[in-house]
Amino acid sequence: MDLLITDTVVATCDDARRTLDHAAVAIRGNRIVGVGPTSDLEREFPELERLSGRGLAVFPGFINAHTHTVLTVLRGTVEDGDGNAVYGYMSPVSYELTGPERAVMAQLGCLEAIRSGCTTLVDPFRHLPDYAPAMAATGLRLWLSENCADINTLRMRLGDYSIDHAFGQTFIDRTLQGIETLHGSHGDRVRCQVAAHAPDNCSPAMLRRLREIAEKHGLTRTVHLAQSMDEVRVVRDAHGLTPAGYLDREGFLGPDLVGAHWTFCTPDDIALLAERGVQMAHTPANASRRGPHRTLIGLIRDAGVNIAIGTDNMTEDMFHALKIGLIVHRGGRGRAQEGGVDPQPQALLDGITRNAARSVGASAEIGSIEVGKKADLTLIDLNQPCMRPLIRLASNLVHYGHPGIVHSVIADGAYLMRDRKVLAIDEPVLLREAQDVTKRVWQRMMKNNPDISPPPGGLQWLDA
Ligand SMILES: [Zn+2]
Repeated sequence: MDLLITDTVVATCDDARRTLDHAAVAIRGNRIVGVGPTSDLEREFPELERLSGRGLAVFPGFINAHTHTVLTVLRGTVEDGDGNAVYGYMSPVSYELTGPERAVMAQLGCLEAIRSGCTTLVDPFRHLPDYAPAMAATGLRLWLSENCADINTLRMRLGDYSIDHAFGQTFIDRTLQGIETLHGSHGDRVRCQVAAHAPDNCSPAMLRRLREIAEKHGLTRTVHLAQSMDEVRVVRDAHGLTPAGYLDREGFLGPDLVGAHWTFCTPDDIALLAERGVQMAHTPANASRRGPHRTLIGLIRDAGVNIAIGTDNMTEDMFHALKIGLIVHRGGRGRAQEGGVDPQPQALLDGITRNAARSVGASAEIGSIEVGKKADLTLIDLNQPCMRPLIRLASNLVHYGHPGIVHSVIADGAYLMRDRKVLAIDEPVLLREAQDVTKRVWQRMMKNNPDISPPPGGLQWLDA
């Protein structure tokens, strides 16, 4: 697009974290070519189409640093039960879905993400080639990967932790297929990462292979890290180490690695991870959903780790992540200790913009509103009750924002949502399909896996 957004408020998220009033943003093609006072930019870019930004605020497009869109199929079920949801439900359901069903659920996640102001998703999951095209078709910027494991994640809930080479090879094949067909596609809007699913389901050989693939193709890497007590126990039994210690022994830690969660990391683990330069994808809302937040986030912040923020399972609501993240981060250090309320809202906003861009090695391209960066922008409607009175923009956004205030979303210089209309998705059709797919898949999963119990309260199929 060629567009000049005029007379608006711009939350740059640049190094100085400037918020500009009566400002303009100029876009040519997929790049930001000007940021500054409206009068200056109107003179500099007379040829650009104008959009009055009065009553709007322009933010860098939100980046969800860790999510699994396909797992919207479990929404409203596993949040309320105990036990290991990863191997008890998430892995089994991912294999019960057919290829087209995966694509429907991934698009549902993308739709929610766009309505939540996202321009970028970082989404490691399984069976990538089935759903990646549907995600790419929404216009979102994507970092996608196949969550590799060579311990069969379908048998772990039954206590079988043996290495399954054939199972592992299917992931390597899909990883390589993804790199070949997706990485750099759609005008470089879609890229790949290399993902080890978790320390409890990857053998040393698998970790080595993944490191080699990442090095060969110059890709960033990701892994779930210390996300459950079960994981900590299984890794200790197998290797006599913590999950972080095991990954370190295998040479898997480094600045190009993003670990999601860190929920059960010890203080020694945190020191080790920080020393190796590992980055964090923090998912505060998801990690707080089933009880008190366990992550030692105060120590992690003090260690200087780059913290990007994501939603993780069953939601793409970035406002939810910001709000709960603020509470978790403040609680993690204790309010009185540091002589003030800390962090301030901008630090959380950094987690879904500049820090998240850095986590995928894309600081030079996205994460702030600066000349030369990609035109990934989220336009917020300031004429909403929760945004008035307006004094400190980031404070209103983080404390009180919700997806209903997102006015328009632009990624790679194209509208994904324009004045609340999502352009590439037929919403009523998709919502109906997602409901039908979910019902079919749950029925299939329960029939094919008699040991899997329904969630607390059972499944009630409301015909709404
Ligand atoms: Zn995850």
